[in-house]
Amino acid sequence: MKNSDCIFCKIAQGKIPAKKVGESNNFIAVLDANQKIRGHTLIIPKKHFVTLLDIPNKLGEELLKFTKEIASKILETKQGDAFNILMNNLEPAGQVVKHAHIHILPRKEGDSVKIIS
Ligand code: AMP
Ligand code: ZN
Repeated sequence: MKNSDCIFCKIAQGKIPAKKVGESNNFIAVLDANQKIRGHTLIIPKKHFVTLLDIPNKLGEELLKFTKEIASKILETKQGDAFNILMNNLEPAGQVVKHAHIHILPRKEGDSVKIIS
């Protein structure tokens, strides 16, 4: 697949619409299109990397800081009282979109959500 066909590259470049909830130099945060849990958010690098292993270490600090910022906002705005962080890397682990992304899943007491992958 060419990067030009990548849906998350298109979102990062503003070529297709998404609900952006935050941005840093190298990452954006958008609401997942399929809100099985309200507030389900994706952290997406602006450049095309396939998995966590492709993201340069030098972006690590920014990625951690930005992910914490978005997760804190979820708590502050009461979208969740807690959260899960999830990343699917490669197809057998459930990765559908082949552009690295981290899921943030807001959680509430007794929400009976089962995180399986
Ligand atoms: P994964 O299984 O980790 O590759 O998850 C891909 C996620 O991307 C799924 O939760 C989809 O609902 C989400 N997704 C796919 N297309 C879009 C889109 N255009 N905008 C926002 N989220 C999307
Ligand atoms: Zn991409």
